[in-house]
Amino acid sequence: EVRVRFAPSPTGFLHLGGLRTALFNYLFAKANNGKFILRIEDTDQTRLVEGATEQLMRDLEWAGMRADEGPLEYGGNFGPYIQSQRLDIYQKHIQTLLENGSAYHCFCSERRLELLRKEALKARQIPKYDNRCRHLTPGQIAEKIAKGDKYCIRFKLHDTGESFIDLIYGNYVYYVAQNEGDPVILKSDGYPTYHFANVVDDHLMEISHVLRGVEWQISTPKHLMMYRALGFTPPVFGHLPLIMNADGSKLSKRQNDIKLEFYKTRGYFPQALLNYITQAGGGFNRDPSERLYCYDMKHLTKKFDITRINSNSSRLNPELLNDLNRLELINQIENPEQCKVLIENVRTLIKTKYPLNADQLDLDDDHILSVLKWASKRISTINELAEENLSFLWVLPKITKDKEIELNEAIIDSLVEELKDENFNKQNLQQILKEFSNEKNLTFANFMKNLRTMLSGLKEGPGVAEMMEILGKEDTLERIIRLKK
Ligand code: GLU
Repeated sequence: EVRVRFAPSPTGFLHLGGLRTALFNYLFAKANNGKFILRIEDTDQTRLVEGATEQLMRDLEWAGMRADEGPLEYGGNFGPYIQSQRLDIYQKHIQTLLENGSAYHCFCSERRLELLRKEALKARQIPKYDNRCRHLTPGQIAEKIAKGDKYCIRFKLHDTGESFIDLIYGNYVYYVAQNEGDPVILKSDGYPTYHFANVVDDHLMEISHVLRGVEWQISTPKHLMMYRALGFTPPVFGHLPLIMNADGSKLSKRQNDIKLEFYKTRGYFPQALLNYITQAGGGFNRDPSERLYCYDMKHLTKKFDITRINSNSSRLNPELLNDLNRLELINQIENPEQCKVLIENVRTLIKTKYPLNADQLDLDDDHILSVLKWASKRISTINELAEENLSFLWVLPKITKDKEIELNEAIIDSLVEELKDENFNKQNLQQILKEFSNEKNLTFANFMKNLRTMLSGLKEGPGVAEMMEILGKEDTLERIIRLKK
């Protein structure tokens, strides 16, 4: 059975890189009738963020990727799914390694390690632990422990290279011990390190494929040594290349716009965001000539093909996100059920934006729907509906006739008369307004400026005829007539 996991550290919010790793795991699971597991890797107790686990779960759900097994209410037969709740399990496997000679107690002080680092840097060498405590005798160890000396447990790296077939990169060989000293696997605070906990858990949770960011590829040979030392069969590994910003710079966690939250609060749809991150780097059976399309999760699953992931890094194209979101907006307008939700969301959005006018807002379903249909050609997120230049859609503009409107009563009367029996589509209205201003000897530009103010109170925004079309006849005439006196 295919079992894959997403194993974030709860140190903050989900960002685009993490979302992509989660997505590829999710799609791989679904495409193979397998299970997608969420595991929280919180062994670095100094970097925990309150509530981050719950936030991660909500973020994944928002994106449509509810884990089949995982922490808290998710559950499953391989729990607990939070590493800090598995300390006794790690202890047991540490004992195995100590007993079979693959690991050892290290009593080196932080001061000694610091000295080693300094010396190496001075000699222009890569700092690495010199494995001194490998050579302690059982007697020396017992004595130090009895004295109460602090210790950690280290894993003995072997000198030979370690290789594996990476699902994405092919054959990968690395001589770990040439570049690293024996790694700590259990810290003096009793917590395991990432490397060890990761290996133990992937084995115990029966993970079949590890799909993770390429930054971990260099660690995999070390992990393979641990699998072997523990007598475990390793899973298959595939490392996902980096995605970068459009300018080729690294997606860094410090940038706001890589956090999921950034997109969520700006009104982007999860589908658009998911499709966005799949536009770069391959992994899908897509014809290059295929037009941009916002696929749902089922469709993405069908199109997913792990062998098509590019092994070089790829760049995101930020312009696509808006296009994709607009496509998704159109998809949702066309789907009755999703459309209902959409209308409700717009209603909430507008009510929140104009709290004081709540009772005067035109928020019935029909109006919102026609606004949506009209807007879907010009906006990318529904949040834009709450922007200033579209306020006319929802609230009656506040205008004092004397100051702002230069059209006299007679003109207004004949304009109303003129429009009363007309068809309110943009082209027709444009024509009528043109003719009207000629007939009455008005400067067209000025006439339109007045009309714009009457309808919207704004200096800018959509074309006047377009505004009239979207407001409809009744509302348009009302807005004009009310400025007569
Ligand atoms: N906890 C690691 C991370 O935060 C997981 C790496 C892995 O998937 O092995 O990225």
